[in-house]
Amino acid sequence: MRDVVVVGGGLCGLAAAYELHKNHIPTTLIEVKPELGGSLQTKTVNGFIFDGAMMAHDIAEPGRFEAYLAELGIMDHAFVTDEGRLAFDAGNRVLIDALARRIESIPRMMRMAVSTLGRFDDGRFSICMENGMLLDARALVVAIPALYAERVFYTLTPEISYRLLDYRYDTITRVSVGYRTSDGLPLVIPPDTPLTEIQCLTGTPRTPSKNGTVIQAALRFAAHDLPDDPVGELAALMGWPPNPDADHIATWPHSDPAQWRQSDHPRTVAHIQSLLPAGVALANSDYVPTSAPPHLDERVQQGIDAARRIIAHIG
Ligand SMILES: Cc1cc2nc3c(=O)[nH]c(=O)nc-3n(C[C@H](O)[C@H](O)[C@H](O)COP(=O)(O)OP(=O)(O)OC[C@H]3O[C@@H](n4cnc5c(N)ncnc54)[C@H](O)[C@@H]3O)c2cc1C
Repeated sequence: MRDVVVVGGGLCGLAAAYELHKNHIPTTLIEVKPELGGSLQTKTVNGFIFDGAMMAHDIAEPGRFEAYLAELGIMDHAFVTDEGRLAFDAGNRVLIDALARRIESIPRMMRMAVSTLGRFDDGRFSICMENGMLLDARALVVAIPALYAERVFYTLTPEISYRLLDYRYDTITRVSVGYRTSDGLPLVIPPDTPLTEIQCLTGTPRTPSKNGTVIQAALRFAAHDLPDDPVGELAALMGWPPNPDADHIATWPHSDPAQWRQSDHPRTVAHIQSLLPAGVALANSDYVPTSAPPHLDERVQQGIDAARRIIAHIG
């Protein structure tokens, strides 16, 4: 029998799996996609390094994350941005790759989706896979968004499933551009536009030369509403040169849960957590009891905390 199964190989799941592995708990990781990392993706275009989901400045305030990065051996990949935040020279993927290396020896079931969770008569958890395979475990870390967890919990704890069914998501299109200059690029978001956030890194290791600029913008556009030339329109709207030296577009139909903006969200999350059977931990940014978009180090901590609850449970 497996001791612990971690469902979901995004940042939270990886941080949980590493914490369990560090504490010598036999752990198996299940991830439906062919690659680990979930929504943390990094793309390099013409020497410019862009993050697809969370933006570079969302990593952590300096002082909060360095010890962990040193433990993972990636402190030399971190630098402090002009805004005073930590960022990775080669994109957020650095963190995923480092965690993946640390848990290289644990069993990984890739391209396999967990369909439902349940319980055998003797108290072990059953993990039913979409391909019909049935696994068992003493404890579980569920590190997947509410969108998928809703179905997964339906047999084990239907009330959790009903609560997760209420989740609604915002859609974000992240348009990233790179210029081989660091001068004269206006950054003030004009009023009444679909632009919600803009972040600029100049002369950092994420540009091919010292004078380069990487700009990442978040637009409230679904893929089907996107203009024909989103990069050109963004450049025109902001007053940037029309043809950037690199660009990248990523549309996220389910980015942030709209629940983050609701005043009763912390109570809902606390209620969902209270409904979890002993031996099951839930970890993902959908279950953060705050309204502010949190940072990467907090997602890692969520995974670590989930693993520690499981370690306490199984002794
Ligand atoms: C545009 C955008 C902006 C964001 N901004 C922020 C932000 O500011 N702050 C923040 O904290 N977070 C933000 N997020 C979310 C952020 O990406 C996550 O917080 C972070 O990557 C942690 O990942 P995770 O492990 O919680 O979830 P994910 O990255 O979603 O990973 C979940 C993993 O589980 C896998 N999976 C799903 N269902 C199953 C299944 N049934 N069986 C097996 N595997 C399964 C998925 O394939 C995925 O790899 C943003 C996301 C997007 C898309």
